[in-house]
Amino acid sequence: MTTPDECCFCEASACPVVLRRPRFQVRRCPRCRVMWCDPPRFDDRFRPDDEEAYLEVEPTVVAENRDRLALLSAWAGPATHARLVEVGCMHGDFVGQAASAGYRARGLDLSTTAVAEAELRRPGLVHEGTLDESTPAASLDVVAAFNVIEHMDAPHRFLDHVRRVLRPGGVLVLETPAQESLYHHALVLRGQLLQRRPRLEIGMHPGTHIYKFGHSAWRRILAGRGFRVLAVRSKSTPLRELLAKNERAGLATRAGIVGLGLAARATGLGNRVQVVAQWS
Ligand SMILES: [Zn+2]
Repeated sequence: MTTPDECCFCEASACPVVLRRPRFQVRRCPRCRVMWCDPPRFDDRFRPDDEEAYLEVEPTVVAENRDRLALLSAWAGPATHARLVEVGCMHGDFVGQAASAGYRARGLDLSTTAVAEAELRRPGLVHEGTLDESTPAASLDVVAAFNVIEHMDAPHRFLDHVRRVLRPGGVLVLETPAQESLYHHALVLRGQLLQRRPRLEIGMHPGTHIYKFGHSAWRRILAGRGFRVLAVRSKSTPLRELLAKNERAGLATRAGIVGLGLAARATGLGNRVQVVAQWS
Protein backbone atom coordinates (compact mmCIF):
# COMPACT_ATOMS: atom_id res chain seq x y z
CA MET A 1 0.00 0.00 0.00
CA THR A 2 1.49 3.31 -1.05
CA THR A 3 1.01 6.67 0.69
CA PRO A 4 -0.42 9.60 -1.38
CA ASP A 5 3.06 11.06 -1.94
CA GLU A 6 4.64 7.73 -2.96
CA CYS A 7 4.97 6.61 -6.60
CA CYS A 8 3.11 3.30 -7.10
CA PHE A 9 5.48 2.26 -9.91
CA CYS A 10 8.98 2.88 -8.54
CA GLU A 11 8.17 3.52 -4.86
CA ALA A 12 9.93 6.91 -4.82
CA SER A 13 8.70 8.71 -1.69
CA ALA A 14 7.89 12.35 -0.89
CA CYS A 15 7.05 13.07 -4.55
CA PRO A 16 6.50 16.83 -4.94
CA VAL A 17 3.23 18.62 -5.69
CA VAL A 18 3.48 20.25 -9.14
CA LEU A 19 -0.04 21.70 -9.37
CA ARG A 20 -2.55 22.76 -6.70
CA ARG A 21 -6.26 22.79 -7.45
CA PRO A 22 -9.08 23.89 -5.10
CA ARG A 23 -10.06 20.31 -4.22
CA PHE A 24 -6.99 18.23 -5.08
CA GLN A 25 -3.32 18.41 -6.02
CA VAL A 26 -1.17 16.81 -8.69
CA ARG A 27 2.10 15.08 -7.79
CA ARG A 28 4.93 13.98 -10.05
CA CYS A 29 7.49 11.25 -9.47
CA PRO A 30 11.01 12.66 -9.95
CA ARG A 31 12.28 9.17 -10.88
CA CYS A 32 9.80 7.71 -13.41
CA ARG A 33 8.00 11.02 -14.16
CA VAL A 34 4.43 9.77 -13.88
CA MET A 35 1.89 12.32 -12.54
CA TRP A 36 -1.15 11.53 -10.40
CA CYS A 37 -4.06 13.11 -8.56
CA ASP A 38 -3.90 13.30 -4.78
CA PRO A 39 -6.45 12.18 -3.65
CA PRO A 40 -6.98 9.71 -6.53
CA ARG A 41 -10.76 9.94 -6.17
CA PHE A 42 -13.43 11.70 -4.11
CA ASP A 43 -15.77 8.70 -3.84
CA ASP A 44 -16.06 5.08 -4.96
CA ARG A 45 -18.39 5.68 -7.89
CA PHE A 46 -17.33 4.13 -11.19
CA ARG A 47 -17.41 6.67 -14.02
CA PRO A 48 -16.90 5.10 -17.40
CA ASP A 49 -15.91 7.37 -20.28
CA ASP A 50 -18.77 9.35 -21.75
CA GLU A 51 -20.56 6.81 -23.96
CA GLU A 52 -22.55 9.51 -25.80
CA ALA A 53 -19.38 11.35 -26.83
CA TYR A 54 -17.95 8.00 -27.94
CA LEU A 55 -20.98 7.34 -30.17
CA GLU A 56 -20.64 10.76 -31.80
CA VAL A 57 -17.06 10.07 -32.82
CA GLU A 58 -17.44 6.49 -34.02
CA PRO A 59 -16.47 7.32 -37.64
CA THR A 60 -13.10 8.59 -36.36
CA VAL A 61 -12.77 5.58 -34.04
CA VAL A 62 -12.74 3.20 -37.02
CA ALA A 63 -9.85 5.12 -38.60
CA GLU A 64 -8.03 5.34 -35.24
CA ASN A 65 -8.38 1.59 -34.76
CA ARG A 66 -7.01 0.94 -38.26
CA ASP A 67 -3.96 2.98 -37.26
CA ARG A 68 -3.61 1.10 -33.93
CA LEU A 69 -3.85 -2.24 -35.76
CA ALA A 70 -1.14 -1.15 -38.22
CA LEU A 71 1.17 -0.31 -35.30
CA LEU A 72 0.42 -3.58 -33.51
CA SER A 73 0.75 -5.83 -36.55
CA ALA A 74 4.12 -4.27 -37.44
CA TRP A 75 5.47 -5.85 -34.21
CA ALA A 76 3.02 -8.68 -33.46
CA GLY A 77 0.90 -9.88 -36.37
CA PRO A 78 -1.97 -12.36 -36.09
CA ALA A 79 0.17 -15.24 -37.45
CA THR A 80 2.43 -15.17 -34.35
CA HIS A 81 0.27 -13.25 -31.83
CA ALA A 82 -3.35 -14.33 -32.41
CA ARG A 83 -4.75 -14.43 -28.85
CA LEU A 84 -5.65 -10.81 -28.11
CA VAL A 85 -7.63 -9.22 -25.27
CA GLU A 86 -8.56 -5.55 -25.22
CA VAL A 87 -9.20 -4.11 -21.77
CA GLY A 88 -11.70 -1.22 -21.60
CA CYS A 89 -13.03 -1.97 -25.09
CA MET A 90 -16.31 0.04 -24.89
CA HIS A 91 -18.52 -1.26 -27.77
CA GLY A 92 -15.84 -3.62 -29.07
CA ASP A 93 -14.96 -1.63 -32.21
CA PHE A 94 -11.24 -2.40 -32.02
CA VAL A 95 -11.98 -6.03 -31.08
CA GLY A 96 -14.20 -6.37 -34.16
CA GLN A 97 -11.60 -4.82 -36.44
CA ALA A 98 -8.81 -6.97 -34.93
CA ALA A 99 -10.95 -10.10 -35.46
CA SER A 100 -11.45 -9.12 -39.11
CA ALA A 101 -7.66 -8.71 -39.42
CA GLY A 102 -7.10 -12.30 -38.24
CA TYR A 103 -6.61 -12.00 -34.47
CA ARG A 104 -8.56 -14.23 -32.08
CA ALA A 105 -9.73 -11.07 -30.33
CA ARG A 106 -12.05 -10.52 -27.39
CA GLY A 107 -12.76 -7.55 -25.18
CA LEU A 108 -13.45 -6.66 -21.57
CA ASP A 109 -15.21 -3.58 -20.19
CA LEU A 110 -16.52 -2.53 -16.77
CA SER A 111 -19.49 -0.59 -18.15
CA THR A 112 -22.68 -2.71 -18.18
CA THR A 113 -24.32 -0.54 -20.85
CA ALA A 114 -21.22 -0.63 -23.10
CA VAL A 115 -21.07 -4.44 -22.84
CA ALA A 116 -24.81 -4.70 -23.64
CA GLU A 117 -24.32 -2.54 -26.75
CA ALA A 118 -21.27 -4.58 -27.77
CA GLU A 119 -23.28 -7.80 -27.42
CA LEU A 120 -25.88 -6.46 -29.88
CA ARG A 121 -23.20 -5.53 -32.41
CA ARG A 122 -20.68 -8.33 -31.99
CA PRO A 123 -22.26 -11.23 -30.08
CA GLY A 124 -19.89 -13.18 -27.84
CA LEU A 125 -16.78 -11.00 -28.31
CA VAL A 126 -17.08 -8.65 -25.32
CA HIS A 127 -17.57 -9.50 -21.65
CA GLU A 128 -18.00 -7.48 -18.48
CA GLY A 129 -14.86 -7.44 -16.37
CA THR A 130 -11.20 -6.57 -16.36
CA LEU A 131 -7.89 -8.38 -16.50
CA ASP A 132 -7.60 -10.25 -13.20
CA GLU A 133 -6.91 -13.62 -11.65
CA SER A 134 -9.62 -15.22 -13.85
CA THR A 135 -7.35 -14.94 -16.91
CA PRO A 136 -4.95 -17.93 -16.94
CA ALA A 137 -1.20 -17.24 -16.74
CA ALA A 138 0.75 -17.04 -20.03
CA SER A 139 -2.48 -17.51 -22.00
CA LEU A 140 -2.38 -14.39 -24.20
CA ASP A 141 -0.23 -13.09 -27.06
CA VAL A 142 -1.47 -9.48 -26.94
CA VAL A 143 -3.02 -7.22 -24.30
CA ALA A 144 -4.39 -3.94 -25.67
CA ALA A 145 -5.46 -0.96 -23.54
CA PHE A 146 -6.33 2.28 -25.34
CA ASN A 147 -7.00 5.34 -23.18
CA VAL A 148 -7.88 3.25 -20.15
CA ILE A 149 -4.82 2.92 -17.86
CA GLU A 150 -5.01 6.59 -16.80
CA HIS A 151 -8.46 5.85 -15.31
CA MET A 152 -7.24 3.02 -13.06
CA ASP A 153 -6.87 3.21 -9.28
CA ALA A 154 -3.91 0.82 -9.32
CA PRO A 155 -2.25 0.88 -12.77
CA HIS A 156 0.86 -0.83 -11.34
CA ARG A 157 -1.25 -3.86 -10.42
CA PHE A 158 -2.71 -3.85 -13.93
CA LEU A 159 0.83 -4.12 -15.34
CA ASP A 160 1.48 -7.01 -12.94
CA HIS A 161 -1.59 -8.78 -14.37
CA VAL A 162 -0.37 -8.09 -17.91
CA ARG A 163 3.01 -9.68 -17.10
CA ARG A 164 1.26 -12.72 -15.68
CA VAL A 165 -1.21 -13.31 -18.53
CA LEU A 166 1.18 -12.66 -21.43
CA ARG A 167 3.24 -15.59 -22.65
CA PRO A 168 6.98 -14.91 -23.05
CA GLY A 169 7.31 -12.80 -26.22
CA GLY A 170 3.75 -11.51 -25.82
CA VAL A 171 3.06 -7.86 -26.43
CA LEU A 172 1.33 -5.00 -24.60
CA VAL A 173 0.00 -2.23 -26.84
CA LEU A 174 -1.32 0.88 -25.15
CA GLU A 175 -2.33 4.47 -25.64
CA THR A 176 -2.64 7.21 -22.99
CA PRO A 177 -2.55 11.01 -22.77
CA ALA A 178 1.05 12.29 -22.94
CA GLN A 179 2.89 14.77 -20.74
CA GLU A 180 5.12 15.77 -23.65
CA SER A 181 2.21 17.33 -25.55
CA LEU A 182 1.52 21.02 -26.20
CA TYR A 183 -2.03 20.38 -24.97
CA HIS A 184 -0.71 19.11 -21.62
CA HIS A 185 1.68 22.05 -21.13
CA ALA A 186 -1.08 24.54 -21.97
CA LEU A 187 -3.51 22.90 -19.51
CA VAL A 188 -0.95 22.75 -16.68
CA LEU A 189 0.07 26.38 -17.23
CA ARG A 190 -3.56 27.46 -17.20
CA GLY A 191 -4.09 25.43 -14.00
CA GLN A 192 -1.13 27.18 -12.35
CA LEU A 193 -2.32 30.64 -13.41
CA LEU A 194 -5.96 30.12 -12.47
CA GLN A 195 -5.51 28.22 -9.21
CA ARG A 196 -8.84 29.23 -7.68
CA ARG A 197 -11.11 28.20 -10.55
CA PRO A 198 -12.52 24.84 -9.38
CA ARG A 199 -14.02 23.69 -12.69
CA LEU A 200 -11.03 24.47 -14.88
CA GLU A 201 -10.11 21.57 -17.21
CA ILE A 202 -6.49 20.49 -16.63
CA GLY A 203 -6.67 17.05 -18.24
CA MET A 204 -6.47 15.29 -14.85
CA HIS A 205 -9.16 14.83 -12.24
CA PRO A 206 -9.73 12.49 -9.25
CA GLY A 207 -11.88 9.54 -10.27
CA THR A 208 -11.45 10.01 -14.04
CA HIS A 209 -8.01 10.85 -15.46
CA ILE A 210 -6.17 9.93 -12.25
CA TYR A 211 -2.72 9.39 -13.83
CA LYS A 212 -0.80 11.08 -16.61
CA PHE A 213 1.93 9.16 -18.41
CA GLY A 214 4.11 10.12 -21.37
CA HIS A 215 6.88 8.98 -23.71
CA SER A 216 9.53 9.21 -21.01
CA ALA A 217 7.35 7.85 -18.19
CA TRP A 218 6.32 4.76 -20.16
CA ARG A 219 9.90 3.96 -21.17
CA ARG A 220 11.00 4.08 -17.52
CA ILE A 221 7.98 2.32 -16.03
CA LEU A 222 7.92 -0.54 -18.54
CA ALA A 223 11.70 -1.08 -18.49
CA GLY A 224 11.53 -1.09 -14.68
CA ARG A 225 8.98 -3.93 -14.81
CA GLY A 226 10.96 -6.08 -17.23
CA PHE A 227 9.30 -5.16 -20.54
CA ARG A 228 11.31 -4.46 -23.69
CA VAL A 229 9.93 -1.27 -25.22
CA LEU A 230 9.62 -1.83 -28.98
CA ALA A 231 7.93 1.42 -30.09
CA VAL A 232 6.86 4.75 -28.61
CA ARG A 233 5.10 7.24 -30.87
CA SER A 234 3.11 10.44 -30.65
CA LYS A 235 -0.52 10.62 -31.67
CA SER A 236 -3.10 13.41 -31.92
CA THR A 237 -6.71 12.79 -30.98
CA PRO A 238 -8.96 13.68 -33.94
CA LEU A 239 -10.26 17.23 -33.40
CA ARG A 240 -13.84 16.05 -33.88
CA GLU A 241 -13.42 13.74 -30.86
CA LEU A 242 -11.83 16.42 -28.63
CA LEU A 243 -14.61 18.87 -29.47
CA ALA A 244 -17.31 16.25 -28.80
CA LYS A 245 -15.79 15.60 -25.37
CA ASN A 246 -15.74 19.36 -24.63
CA GLU A 247 -19.21 20.08 -25.98
CA ARG A 248 -20.22 22.14 -22.96
CA ALA A 249 -16.96 24.17 -22.84
CA GLY A 250 -16.91 27.88 -23.73
CA LEU A 251 -16.05 29.22 -27.16
CA ALA A 252 -12.53 30.28 -26.05
CA THR A 253 -11.75 26.76 -24.79
CA ARG A 254 -13.05 25.16 -27.98
CA ALA A 255 -11.04 27.61 -30.10
CA GLY A 256 -7.99 26.79 -27.97
CA ILE A 257 -8.52 23.06 -28.59
CA VAL A 258 -8.57 23.62 -32.36
CA GLY A 259 -5.45 25.86 -32.21
CA LEU A 260 -3.47 23.42 -30.06
CA GLY A 261 -4.64 20.49 -32.20
CA LEU A 262 -3.30 22.15 -35.35
CA ALA A 263 -0.03 23.12 -33.59
CA ALA A 264 0.38 19.53 -32.35
CA ARG A 265 0.07 18.22 -35.90
CA ALA A 266 2.63 20.76 -37.12
CA THR A 267 5.17 19.94 -34.38
CA GLY A 268 4.57 16.19 -33.90
CA LEU A 269 3.85 16.76 -30.18
CA GLY A 270 0.46 15.05 -30.09
CA ASN A 271 -1.68 14.82 -26.97
CA ARG A 272 -1.40 11.04 -26.71
CA VAL A 273 1.36 8.46 -26.75
CA GLN A 274 1.19 4.94 -28.19
CA VAL A 275 3.50 2.23 -26.88
CA VAL A 276 4.30 -1.35 -27.90
CA ALA A 277 6.25 -3.38 -25.33
CA GLN A 278 7.25 -7.02 -25.23
CA TRP A 279 7.19 -9.26 -22.19
CA SER A 280 10.19 -11.59 -22.22
ZN1 LIG B 1 8.07 6.68 -10.00
